[in-house]
Amino acid sequence: MTALATDSGQRRDASLHATGLHANASQRWHDLATRVLDGHRLTEAEAISILAAPDEEVLDLLAAAFRVRRARFGRSVQLYFLMNAKSGLCPEDCSYCSQSKVSDAEIPRYNILKRDDLLAGAKAAAERQAKTYCIVISARGPTEREIAAVEAIVPEIKQKYGLQICACLGLLTPEQADRLAACGVNKVNHNLNTGSEHYAEICTTHTYQDRVDTLRNVRKSGMELCSGGIIGMGEKPRDVVSMAFELRDLGVESIPVNFLNPIEGTPLALAPGQKQELTPNYCLKVLCMFRLANPNSELRIAGGREMHLRTLQPLGLYAANSIFVGDYLTTKGQLPEADYAMIRDMGFEVTEAADTSASCC
Ligand code: SF4
Repeated sequence: MTALATDSGQRRDASLHATGLHANASQRWHDLATRVLDGHRLTEAEAISILAAPDEEVLDLLAAAFRVRRARFGRSVQLYFLMNAKSGLCPEDCSYCSQSKVSDAEIPRYNILKRDDLLAGAKAAAERQAKTYCIVISARGPTEREIAAVEAIVPEIKQKYGLQICACLGLLTPEQADRLAACGVNKVNHNLNTGSEHYAEICTTHTYQDRVDTLRNVRKSGMELCSGGIIGMGEKPRDVVSMAFELRDLGVESIPVNFLNPIEGTPLALAPGQKQELTPNYCLKVLCMFRLANPNSELRIAGGREMHLRTLQPLGLYAANSIFVGDYLTTKGQLPEADYAMIRDMGFEVTEAADTSASCC
């Protein structure tokens, strides 16, 4: 009798203790969200503590992140559609990339697509309810022919399908950025990919500063910035935080967060020591950290979503408000129908689809 009473008392104490801890964590993340909504800029210590939070606090973190997401983006989900407009011919050595000169990955290799193919991609984007069509080429930076191809097609795409255009053409000079802005490109994607201190570990043919310079050139041209990174390349939590804060300082409007899909034939896939295992809970913490660090930026769960969030994919939308629909550049995404069902089941809705009756750019 005494032993039983003691056991049950200990269980109750343990449970109360656990509940107390949980309540504290829940209140702590709630309070942080309140402060962020009041204009607080996340500190490095706070950002690191999010990445290091125990898994049992992930739901509390998501609830906090969702308060911030809902204040700015409601329950909307913005869809982006990727078009790999030039594949596998890049002279750079980014170690995660299947299209780099140091990759042996078996991927299609072709030069910039012709007008009809780019238009067909835009049609597919509109049909899939994407609001933004991303024209991506594998390159250090665009050639004159590539810039001219984009200049020629963008007004036509906007007139026919009413899509927003995001161009990802590599490093850009101020003049190239101005030309893209002039032809109607809305935003330019150029990812920082990782923190400044880790950058030399993943690429040697250009620098982190080169990428920041391109983002500044884009900003001066008046276009919006799309820039994010890849998680899981052997970086430290402080590298992830430093990237999130750099994006904040640059005022990036749209942040794609990728989770490394180690593609066979890329240096990173061949170097197990240089990448870390990602768990769904850690990926969710990363998304929460980006949301709280960048409360006004669109946050997109990008490549690696299906592979790393797995069954927890829908929860990511409590922090993020955007996904790619369809395939990624050289890897498959899940079927669009699965994305629509996920969004519907969450009680969210896709941002108004492209206006196909648009008549001007
Ligand atoms: S610059 Fe872009 S396309 Fe080229 S290797 Fe790096 S990530 Fe790949």
